[in-house]
Amino acid sequence: MGLDRAHFFTIQGKHFVCDVLTTQCFRLDSIGLSVLPELLAGNIDNLEEKYAGAYTRGDLRKCIREGKEILRLGHFTASAPPYSHPIYDHVASLCLHVAHHCNLNCEYCYADAGSFGGKRSLMSREVMRKAVDFAFVNSGDTEELFIGFFGGEPLLNFSVIQEAVAYARDQAHHLKKRARFTMSTNATLLSRPIMDFIHQENFSLLFSLDGPKSIHDKMRKDWKGQGTHTSVLKNIRTFAKRYSSDFTVRGTFTRTTPNFTDQVLFLNDQGFHSVSVEPAQLAPNHPYSITSDVELSRVKGEYDRLANIYVERFRQEKPISFFHFDYCLKKLLVPQPTHTTCGAAGGFIAVTPDGRIFPCFEAVVEKENCIGHLDTGFDKVKRKFFQRLHVDVKSGCKECWAQYICGGGCHVFSIRYNGDIHLPYYPQCEIFKHRFELAAWILAEVADMGGTAIQRLKKHVGMKD
Ligand code: SF4
Ligand code: SF4
Repeated sequence: MGLDRAHFFTIQGKHFVCDVLTTQCFRLDSIGLSVLPELLAGNIDNLEEKYAGAYTRGDLRKCIREGKEILRLGHFTASAPPYSHPIYDHVASLCLHVAHHCNLNCEYCYADAGSFGGKRSLMSREVMRKAVDFAFVNSGDTEELFIGFFGGEPLLNFSVIQEAVAYARDQAHHLKKRARFTMSTNATLLSRPIMDFIHQENFSLLFSLDGPKSIHDKMRKDWKGQGTHTSVLKNIRTFAKRYSSDFTVRGTFTRTTPNFTDQVLFLNDQGFHSVSVEPAQLAPNHPYSITSDVELSRVKGEYDRLANIYVERFRQEKPISFFHFDYCLKKLLVPQPTHTTCGAAGGFIAVTPDGRIFPCFEAVVEKENCIGHLDTGFDKVKRKFFQRLHVDVKSGCKECWAQYICGGGCHVFSIRYNGDIHLPYYPQCEIFKHRFELAAWILAEVADMGGTAIQRLKKHVGMKD
């Protein structure tokens, strides 16, 4: 037991404490904020006398009783959660980089406009088939294989996508397994036949759209330098109207788009049900990167603004979707210590057009992350290196209060920005922790609404009651 196990924080005027090991968060009033640190430090005697001038005896006794009950239930006293993420060998998700090429030239593209720093190329049918075979052979007892189509812009290679779906379904049938499909696309090439196909094959879809035209067109341009907002929005709206609105829209913000709340609101106001807007991941010296303390502080202020709007819209029964608050709210509603949220190189692999295997789609940027080739199989040593990573072995995460909430962040960002897989990427950590604290505040605000507000919130974030 000890203070080092507790993270006390005050956000938007409300006080909280988070148990670092169980990840459970408790809201505190001002008495709790005085008394709980004393209980955790073992200063049990004379507490009533010490705070008699500040609080009534009745309130103090009630608070001490509640504090002791929290400790009795094992919070701030339990030992560290055992590592519960055994090395997972069976491939469950194959990301096919069917196009290392793109019809756009977005200014913030981390993938060098789709080429990933190499030769522009499309995946051949032969490589696609080998990759699907490889994934099934290595899928062990996994019953369902997810196949994702990624790029660059995957729809530049639509014929191979069509063939991959037919081939994977066929193979799955023979093996008595199932295949399911996902795709991330810039949505510029969504013709009627393509929409028919992806709807018929029940694709999970992620469309890239940065929000209002003035923001989107600043970054997401074609090779002639023309903004793409008009066609992208039209295509996504057509898809939603004609087929289904069951897709995610993802936007990106940079140093040049400080009001990213406007992006989130724009996407929600289109009627899109699943919205994510995230910071661009760029090298610290990139003109659009968000890495300095000044930039981070501004970004945190904007998350504060978004949190206030999230609460107000929820109060008015017009809730907005924002992936990162929804995700943290679920973690707060059902605390569950986690050692990693990353399946890289274990259940998850990515394959490039030339047949190299990587731990995940993001890892493809650095060729040294390669963990094998379809012709020679896994490099078992390199694969195991990624598989064995979790928060307890990341030296840079040992002192972090959010370690079992976050699970150690993105390995690839650690490599890319710090040159050391064990050192977390500071801007990502700062933003993650701030969003989590804001989610605790959102939950407290919703709880204060009373009635069925918490049930409504659970439903809103996709939880069963
Ligand atoms: S659409 Fe995607 S892959 Fe293509 S340039 Fe833009 S960010 Fe890069
Ligand atoms: S990656 Fe950052 S936020 Fe996550 S556990 Fe490590 S230090 Fe904490």
